[in-house]
Amino acid sequence: MPLYQNILVAVDLTQESQQVLQKASALADGATISVIHVSEPLTQLYGGEIGVDLAGLQTELLTQAKELLAKLLDSMKVPADRQHIAVGKPATEIRRQAEELKADLIVIGTHSRHGFGILLGSTANGVLHGTGCDVLAVRINTDA
Ligand code: AMP
Repeated sequence: MPLYQNILVAVDLTQESQQVLQKASALADGATISVIHVSEPLTQLYGGEIGVDLAGLQTELLTQAKELLAKLLDSMKVPADRQHIAVGKPATEIRRQAEELKADLIVIGTHSRHGFGILLGSTANGVLHGTGCDVLAVRINTDA
């Protein structure tokens, strides 16, 4: 039986996502892999007062995120029903999805941070503090 049976991988859809997915894939050993990307709500980012159809724009962004995620997972056997797109705060939504899926491991990327970065924290920090399952923080190699 694999060490973990139900792995949730969090991806921000940047190029570094491949590094996080590859690590998860390498340790899966037969475990089920689900993937989540969280889109931040535009109304929170722009306050909803800029005279633009934010709802339409958000729908468009979600469609694009869904397509990008599917493309990213092209070579991995992750079926569509295990490709999750959520709207909200990344750390909160990742934890919520992990609970819903009863994941026993969350795999997430992490950067070395300096100065304000340390004070502001990171998505990995936010996930680690408050989740009930194991969390693997994959150190992102920015030279890759
Ligand atoms: P950060 O250090 O906060 O830039 O994020 C590092 C890692 O957090 C990424 O490699 C992803 O694993 C995860 N992450 C960040 N943003 C998101 C997002 N919007 N949706 C899903 N995962 C994310």
